[in-house]
Amino acid sequence: MTDTTPSVPSPLTAALDRLFPTLTPAQVARIAAHGDRRQVQRGEVLVEAGENPRFFVVTAGNIEIVRPARGTEEVVAVCGPGQFTGEVNMLSGRRGFLRIRASASGEVIAVEREHLLALVQTDSELSDILMRAFILRRVELIARGIGDAVLVGSSHSSGTLRIKEFLTRNGHPYSYLDLDRDADVQDLLDHFHITVADIPVVICRGELVLRNPSNQQIANCLGFNEAIDQTQIRDLVILGAGPAGLAAAVYGASEGLDVLVLESDAPGGQAGSSSKIENYLGFPTGISGHELAGRAYTQAQKFGAQILIAKCAKRLACDRKPYAIELDDGERAPARAVIIATGALYRRLSLDNVAQFEGAGVYYGATFVESQLCRDEEVIVVGGGNSAGQAAVFLAQTSKCVHMLVRSDGLAASMSRYLIRRIEENPAINLRTCTEIVSLEGSDHLERVQLRNKRTGKTETRDIRHIFVMTGAVPNTAWLGGCVLLDAKGFIKTGTDLSPEDLAATRWPLTRPPHLLETSLPGVFAVGDVRAGAIKRVASAVGEGSIAIASVHQILRE
Ligand SMILES: Cc1cc2nc3c(=O)[nH]c(=O)nc-3n(C[C@H](O)[C@H](O)[C@H](O)COP(=O)(O)OP(=O)(O)OC[C@H]3O[C@@H](n4cnc5c(N)ncnc54)[C@H](O)[C@@H]3O)c2cc1C
Repeated sequence: MTDTTPSVPSPLTAALDRLFPTLTPAQVARIAAHGDRRQVQRGEVLVEAGENPRFFVVTAGNIEIVRPARGTEEVVAVCGPGQFTGEVNMLSGRRGFLRIRASASGEVIAVEREHLLALVQTDSELSDILMRAFILRRVELIARGIGDAVLVGSSHSSGTLRIKEFLTRNGHPYSYLDLDRDADVQDLLDHFHITVADIPVVICRGELVLRNPSNQQIANCLGFNEAIDQTQIRDLVILGAGPAGLAAAVYGASEGLDVLVLESDAPGGQAGSSSKIENYLGFPTGISGHELAGRAYTQAQKFGAQILIAKCAKRLACDRKPYAIELDDGERAPARAVIIATGALYRRLSLDNVAQFEGAGVYYGATFVESQLCRDEEVIVVGGGNSAGQAAVFLAQTSKCVHMLVRSDGLAASMSRYLIRRIEENPAINLRTCTEIVSLEGSDHLERVQLRNKRTGKTETRDIRHIFVMTGAVPNTAWLGGCVLLDAKGFIKTGTDLSPEDLAATRWPLTRPPHLLETSLPGVFAVGDVRAGAIKRVASAVGEGSIAIASVHQILRE
């Protein structure tokens, strides 16, 4: 006799009934209208690991979700009648890393991904149940390190940090082996002639060994991206998946536009590296940038936006319509309208050897990943703005002491009042005004820092191994090659900021003036931090991303 009780073989951290809810007969019937009923035999594989995702609801019998490994396997979960398969990759279309197999003969409803997307866009009750289960299941997979990527690295290597951040910010589960802690791993690498120069190593899908891979190589190997159909002219191509780009994607796709988003790194942009955003409307206790970005990313995919990761726009072909975006890997994406949401890049310390320590003692974001690297150590945060303030408060929870360095003689001019108060009241934060870093020392990793007080000229050397640089940003506009008008600092001018002289100089061809967020090139918009005059906040980036969509509709009708 077959046991049809839904079960999960090992302990789970999330509530079972939310991870594996049982649908009512009426809900199952609504899903059945979008799929096909079919009989399954015990042992039949419905989807193999590495194949494109498909969705199943069990109506009789059992389906097991299996993690395959060489010569062995682990049953991760079992779904019984009324329960369904799938996790976040059902929305993204990425290949799955688990096998789905009938563990008892019975019947399932099979639904193709595009039909499932149509269903979640129209049936809000089912959308809530499925989305919640998909997201919780992904969180569970990450918590249990169940995935198709193994990272072998060292906490002294900047490449390891880069890859950890890339996988984490893409919400991709992975296992990590640390060479510094596990001597057996070093033996294994020696055996395979993997040298120090090859570190970090990513073992992808249990098969391919990538030596110090780029983010793009990892994205390709793990199947993050579908191919771009280069003949398809999109209604809208969005460059950048920070808050502004993701908001444009959510509003554009939900209002019926055919949207493609190209992101050079990982979703979330600068906000993704924020440990806690406390001033975004609707989150009174704050939300981490990573979590906010993850939600927006899933939401954009739910509405059908195609989002490609580790794809950097290299050139805007703007001499004729339709415009096209040329990518660093040679691909091309034609578009009727373009939204530039490429944000800004952090300013670096102006010290000769800073590049040597980036990722190995010098960081530009303070997330959980970095905070674990400097647990119980003294750290420095450089900068007097809100991002520096947040980083100091966040790092003070886990570090021995945070030295906060500002070049001016106080914080008041550049930081929100609530943060100034928290810094002043926190005994673990040592605010050092009129102070700058004058040299960095170390070999593989930062070991020491020399500081100078600008007022007294006195220098001191401290054994500090971690510096967080939060000193503002410069716009990502170099790739635009003169297609749109920039201001003196390189930010993109839009709307009423474009004077009649600007429009004459750039040969604005229309009788109407540019829309609010339109650049000097008709049909090309700029939103968020990349735009001249933008208020550099998550909320304003999100607002601008959504406002631009209204203008995109208008220009598509022109
Ligand atoms: C540490 C930190 C903490 C912060 N905390 C707060 C806060 O608490 N509250 C608040 O309101 N604001 C905060 N901010 C500011 C806020 O994050 C930014 O204003 C916001 O992220 C801007 O959004 P954006 O989408 O315009 O640009 P970004 O967030 O910069 O995103 C731009 C995206 O474009 C991508 N990109 C760049 N060039 C290309 C290219 N050529 N092709 C494709 N993609 C490209 C980048 O990889 C990036 O993902 C913080 C910023 C930082 C750095």
